[in-house]
Amino acid sequence: MSFYELQAPTVWADPPSMWSSTSIDDVEACPRRWQLMRSRWGDLDRFPVRPHPAAIEGQIVHEALDRLTRACGQRGNPPFGSPEFAAALTDADFFPGFARAVAEWGHRLMSHPRPGPAFRLRASGEELANRAVRMFREQYKPDGKAASQAAERAAETPVNVKALLKKKHALSEVKLTHPGLPFLGILDRVQDTGEGVEVVDFKTGKPSDKHHKQLLRYALLWWRTTGDAPARVSAQYLDGVESWSVTLSALEGIEADLVKGLPLLTEALRAYPAAAKPGSGCGFCPVRARCAAGWAVGEEAALVDGRGDAELLVGAKAGEHGFLARTRVGADVAVVYEAAVAKLLPEHVEGQVVRVLDGVWKEKRSQLELKAWTEVFVVREVQ
Ligand code: SF4
Repeated sequence: MSFYELQAPTVWADPPSMWSSTSIDDVEACPRRWQLMRSRWGDLDRFPVRPHPAAIEGQIVHEALDRLTRACGQRGNPPFGSPEFAAALTDADFFPGFARAVAEWGHRLMSHPRPGPAFRLRASGEELANRAVRMFREQYKPDGKAASQAAERAAETPVNVKALLKKKHALSEVKLTHPGLPFLGILDRVQDTGEGVEVVDFKTGKPSDKHHKQLLRYALLWWRTTGDAPARVSAQYLDGVESWSVTLSALEGIEADLVKGLPLLTEALRAYPAAAKPGSGCGFCPVRARCAAGWAVGEEAALVDGRGDAELLVGAKAGEHGFLARTRVGADVAVVYEAAVAKLLPEHVEGQVVRVLDGVWKEKRSQLELKAWTEVFVVREVQ
């Protein structure tokens, strides 16, 4: 049976044995999405997400900016052209990273269950690098005095981090595990400000409450590992810093949330399928075609964005280039596609209910065109 006909994972994902701040946020947002994404689907270890090439290009640029932001932050945001800035570019593997990412994504796209010659990245590594450099130049604010603040990397060092910080004044990539809870984090930078310890995380994107919460969780890890509560946590963005002072009661509150919340999240992932939380995340949820609870919400959100998600009851085939179908609300639709796309559809769709992801609506939504990147999932259980 092809991936597009499998109705559920062949092996369900287990809850994580160790939690990160990101996995907590992801499972809180929707346990089912976390679970379906990480489950085995036939021969595939995980759900094979098939993002649009433009989204992949954006992701490659974003990840490179993320790496460079971290590397610069760890070296005290040195000025352009300085030896420290050059070292940050090397640390971040900035320029070579683009060609490698393009090659890796090219391989992933071609080994996807639904490859297609028309579905590949259009931009070269060099073009993406130029795009990233432009964005970085627009936003980066060097800190002229900071070259001396380069931090000692501490991620893989199983040493007394408190003593190491006292000696070095700044540490980077500090991997810490809570002594009594299944929770770990890698702290981008920890520095001694002279007025107490500051935990810093480097971020691209916009300030968000999530960043503050993540930093408090990291401050908790530092406190429980060393006995010293940080005085401050900071989110360093490309164009500025947001800082918050830390109180013991805030750390105790964060810890109490973890004590109570982690067993509940683990329990939620022991249901198969886990509970769904339909909401604003459904529109771009990679597993929405396999989530009856969130499908309608995602379909509406896609319509607002001009994307063609549709659940259809397929009627008669109308030649090599299309078929007739009916939507969930009973409207007739002509589904059309080119010969190259036809080869990629599931073999038997007549009489089936299918969920189409990322088609293109035409002719006032009386026609839905399936493109090279469109996916069509057979949904037998709805019949
Ligand atoms: S479609 Fe919505 S409810 Fe369903 S798994 Fe995705 S995010 Fe969760």
